[in-house]
Amino acid sequence: MAENLLRAEGLGKTFGGGRRFGKEVPGVRAVDDVSFDIARGETLAVVGESGCGKSTLGRLLLRLIEPTSGTVQLDGIDITALPRHKLRAVRAKAQIIFQDPYGSLSPRRRVGDIVGEPLELFEPGLTGAQRRERVAGLLEQVGLSASIMDKYPRQFSGGQRQRIGIARAIALNPAFIVADEPVSALDVSVQAQIVNLLQDLQEQHGFSYFFVAHDLAVVRHFADRVMVMYLGRVVEIGPKRAVYDTPHHPYTQALLSAAPQPDPHRKARAIVLKGDVPSPLRVPPGCHFHTRCPLAQPVCRVERPALRQIAEGHQAACHFAAPNPIPLVS
Ligand code: SF4
Repeated sequence: MAENLLRAEGLGKTFGGGRRFGKEVPGVRAVDDVSFDIARGETLAVVGESGCGKSTLGRLLLRLIEPTSGTVQLDGIDITALPRHKLRAVRAKAQIIFQDPYGSLSPRRRVGDIVGEPLELFEPGLTGAQRRERVAGLLEQVGLSASIMDKYPRQFSGGQRQRIGIARAIALNPAFIVADEPVSALDVSVQAQIVNLLQDLQEQHGFSYFFVAHDLAVVRHFADRVMVMYLGRVVEIGPKRAVYDTPHHPYTQALLSAAPQPDPHRKARAIVLKGDVPSPLRVPPGCHFHTRCPLAQPVCRVERPALRQIAEGHQAACHFAAPNPIPLVS
């Protein structure tokens, strides 16, 4: 069994809230009591609609934002308990690739400075020539020429900028990378190239990825395990095959029924959800999904379903999740 690298336990984040003008104002509970592990070299993909808390969760794992509750252990260290000045060591081990390749690179800095910045901060003993040599190697690893070092991000396409962002993220050879929708801002034709690059880099360096996506098709070939979120909670988590082939949660089933089938001869039952995702300011009680669930029963309106084991490593948070669900595809 692979060694564990990261453990999140009871992680929660509420934005805003408190007393205003003598009244209690509810906060937005973006992440609600989330627990999971990631093994070394593993890719855990998290999927769900916009606003489900997946990007917030990614930032909590790196402590780029402070959790309201819960802990994150990275390589055996509780990073949520570390004083701010000791977080530096975490930054070397854990990095992020941002969604927006246009906004995440400073337009005033040259590519060599952007990619070399982590080396400047964490390996101050390197000479300028040594740093340039390392940057050249990093650019080549992500499929770019070392000759672009003196150019500016605006001179490149979205895909090339994302490669520059990836070169910066891997500069310190981190153990863990949060990839926050790294391809969703790119043309479809470029998406597969970036996903393949991330996969190749993982094979070479053994990174673990927390891969945030809203598109189930993107993670189908890439993830080892898949975690599905709805309104801040995990509703299903399991090995990729199990989640795709025998989804147990009605929300996962609906997401999959809307995704393109890789095998055109297999037909998915269309599951159409009622209404929109409720506002995170007015989250429904009980099962958060009950306002849209085609299988909802009275108990769902009052009782929160716990995440429970359905099969080896496969869990779902539904009162009626059964060990042998009706197959989604036939
Ligand atoms: Fe639907 Fe009830 Fe299951 Fe929630 S607990 S997913 S509302 S059947």
